[in-house]
Amino acid sequence: MLLAKKIFGIVFSYKKIISNLSIGAAERLCNIWLAGVFYFVFRYIHNHFALIDIVSSWYSWVALILLTDFVWYWYHRLGHEINILWAFHIVHHQSEDFNYTTSTRITVFQALVRNVFWCVLPLIGFPPEMVILTLVIHGSYSFFTHTELVGKLGWIEKVFITPSHHRVHHASNTEYLDKNYGDMFVFWDKLFGTFKEEQTKPVYGITKPLKTHSFLWQHFHYLIEMSYRFNRTRGLKNKFRIIFGKPDVMDGDEREIVEANWLVEGQPIPVFERRSGRYKRYINVQFAAMLASLILITLYHERLSVSSNFFFSSILILTLVNCCALLEQKKWIFFVEYVRLILFVEYVAFQFNGWYYFVLCNLILLLFTLTYNTLRKKYIQLVYQY
Ligand SMILES: [Zn+2]
Ligand SMILES: [Zn+2]
Repeated sequence: MLLAKKIFGIVFSYKKIISNLSIGAAERLCNIWLAGVFYFVFRYIHNHFALIDIVSSWYSWVALILLTDFVWYWYHRLGHEINILWAFHIVHHQSEDFNYTTSTRITVFQALVRNVFWCVLPLIGFPPEMVILTLVIHGSYSFFTHTELVGKLGWIEKVFITPSHHRVHHASNTEYLDKNYGDMFVFWDKLFGTFKEEQTKPVYGITKPLKTHSFLWQHFHYLIEMSYRFNRTRGLKNKFRIIFGKPDVMDGDEREIVEANWLVEGQPIPVFERRSGRYKRYINVQFAAMLASLILITLYHERLSVSSNFFFSSILILTLVNCCALLEQKKWIFFVEYVRLILFVEYVAFQFNGWYYFVLCNLILLLFTLTYNTLRKKYIQLVYQY
């Protein structure tokens, strides 16, 4: 563990790491669809609306890197200053640990918003191929700034965003709030007055930490809080501010109210936690299979039919929901298993031509449905050892 800590910058917390990686894996999966769509969008914008004709040369590459970083600065800053964009970006800030897995906390909604911002690059005139390559390099940089194990880096601090600068950005200490939005270069923050040097030790996470590692709750809690506030706000102008105003338009009590209304209070079972790690082993197996499948889908998705892509994507998303539910020993997890089985059985049924396969598969499903409650009880006993 110490070696991993040194090499990967990981301060271990099993639940938080699974939670971080689940969000990242879902984004990578959805990004397969998103990247393809936006490549065509970039191409369309470049072909029809490009303001100038830019060709590849050393200075156009330098200009592109600088511009990409400039767009990032504003995309990121607006992600903190416009409530609806904060609803998507908040997920990146939920982790109370700060390590390389924190960098993966990007949701597909945030990736969508980011790609809309990137449209400005082909609009200026940069060819889509140059834009995509730059985005890959630029996007990889931020991985290295998510660690507590690298201290101050001398002169590098004056030019680039370093782990020290980004620690400040992730901190919820009052003096660090809304600071250091840059991704690669530090001068945008200095230019626009949002730079802050790391001085006191950062405390990570959002000011009101979430009560759960639920995959869905981490993605959607802020949108639910927003809709709660929106419904209780009078006047069109005020409602508009709930969506497009600064996040401080929220009263601050929404979290507690929606948590009370929406979260099924799962009772953590400390005795069981000490007694058995079986559910963790089940998570590990599922997570390893999910990661292997994610790699295969990333490599071979073009060879798969749309229905196969949809099927595998759905199974993987359900697996992530399942792993996060297992972390908290939720009993509704069996319903996720049931939906996953339905998807699997129906997919198999449609893959094989012949009515008898269809009948056989659905008979299995019917049998399962009829014994649902008994199987559920046995499953809960087996996985959680109640
Ligand atoms: Zn941020
Ligand atoms: Zn970050």
